[in-house]
Amino acid sequence: MKLTFVGAAHEVTGSCHFLQVAGKNILVDCGMEQGPDLYENPGLPISATDVDYVFLTHAHIDHSGMLPKLAKDGFKGQIFTTYATADLCNIMLRDSAHIQEFEAEWRNRKGRRAGKPEYEPVYEMQDALNAIELLVPCQYGERITICEGIQIRFTDVGHLLGSASIEVWATEDGVTKKIVFSGDIGNLDQPIIKDPAYTESADYIVMESTYGNRLHTQEKPDYLGDFTRILKETFDKGGEMLLFLPLLWAELRNSSILYVRSKKRNY
Ligand SMILES: [Zn+2]
Repeated sequence: MKLTFVGAAHEVTGSCHFLQVAGKNILVDCGMEQGPDLYENPGLPISATDVDYVFLTHAHIDHSGMLPKLAKDGFKGQIFTTYATADLCNIMLRDSAHIQEFEAEWRNRKGRRAGKPEYEPVYEMQDALNAIELLVPCQYGERITICEGIQIRFTDVGHLLGSASIEVWATEDGVTKKIVFSGDIGNLDQPIIKDPAYTESADYIVMESTYGNRLHTQEKPDYLGDFTRILKETFDKGGEMLLFLPLLWAELRNSSILYVRSKKRNY
């Protein structure tokens, strides 16, 4: 078993771990870097065509956003994840492709005037659709045989609909070891999503530590109060808000964003 940290090991976003085990090349998450680039990641040490499987912890773009790029570069293996994550990726990866295309168009419009070379989008809609085709939805709690020598199980960790820790059992030379990828772990008593479930045992754990430098012992934040205050302040200033509503995604499908406008502006 060999593990290489390709992303999110020196900074928070762009999660990607490269696991070589039982003769297979596996990526755990394939995320996009977002925000300031604090650390230059080394890139995938093998060709995308040599990746056999992806195990995806959840749909957030910093964990899933480079799947279309992987598909663009020739990956044709399976992407194992939970049902809800597969559903969310079906929307979010298309949305991300739309953003990539839009940004490239904008850059090129400006660039052409300045005589700059064409900017190619990181990926396009067809790449996202190709990646979505490779998703294999799985149930929580089921031990799934991926191939000879590799089994996995998804555990609900209450971070986002569909989010999971992934237990990986790998057998090499008759010896089975278990490595667990925590994924992003949620908090207790959150609305809509369940409390994180426990993983009983592991030989190795790869643990997220995004808020590892913060104490969660203070009183619970007043989410609804804060949200109402932000809405009010924004509208008082005549501003507008974009709300992402995951629960409504299943209903709306083509419209994942609710656009809330201030009454003051008379649209
Ligand atoms: Zn997340």
